[in-house]
Amino acid sequence: MTQLIFAANWKMHLGPEGARKFMDEFMEAYRPQSDREVWFFPSAVAVETVAVQLRERPDIRVGVQNLYWEPKGAFTGELSVSMAKEAGGSVALVGHSERRHVFGETEEETSQKVTALLEAGLTPVLCVGETLQEREAGETIPVVKRQLGALEGLDPQTLAGIPIAYEPVWAIGTGRTATPADAAEVHAAIRAWFGGRGADTGSVKILYGGSVKVENVHALVSEPDVDGVLVGGASLDPAQWAAIASTSID
Ligand code: PEP
Repeated sequence: MTQLIFAANWKMHLGPEGARKFMDEFMEAYRPQSDREVWFFPSAVAVETVAVQLRERPDIRVGVQNLYWEPKGAFTGELSVSMAKEAGGSVALVGHSERRHVFGETEEETSQKVTALLEAGLTPVLCVGETLQEREAGETIPVVKRQLGALEGLDPQTLAGIPIAYEPVWAIGTGRTATPADAAEVHAAIRAWFGGRGADTGSVKILYGGSVKVENVHALVSEPDVDGVLVGGASLDPAQWAAIASTSID
């Protein structure tokens, strides 16, 4: 049974050609391990390229960084769930802090994206996390719980299949990382939130994200409540990403 998820968020980097070269090098460097999966979130135009290279690798999944909940229509610049699926995507990031804070995505919109993905049989990865101001005001847990509200009303079985990425906003792309103990505390609160809604807490995957790199990944994934990582900057180098995804756990 898979225990860990190592997810790469390439943000607005690597088009189809860059993605193809990356995957060639990554596949050389990374050996499948039965206790983990590796997930890629490339730019939308590179999803199909990555999916084609992963045909023989059920331990590696590809998905989209964002989508729109409407099935089709006059929504210039948007990507539907069925388009993501057709390109080979099976997972999607939802509510990433850059969507929330750079593009003003609301919790209502995040929730609509979760619904659209579930209806199509894709896995949403709900990203949650507090700003520095919220952390300093002691509001981390209430903010995270409010963001988990995007999943309110789902049945326990569905809930248990939705991975959460806890990504403190102040740690994303800043070089600052939450300590393993800080991450563990928030992860435990997230798991308790699921437990309070009847979901099997042992099945829920909770990833940590925010300036994860080779040097700190081992300590983070060694925390019992940390089921993997969502990595931006350090996932853009194939050798470095292969090393992170190969991290041994105690
Ligand atoms: C991210 O994009 O989700 C992320 C955590 O970025 P970084 O690893 O660069 O902080």
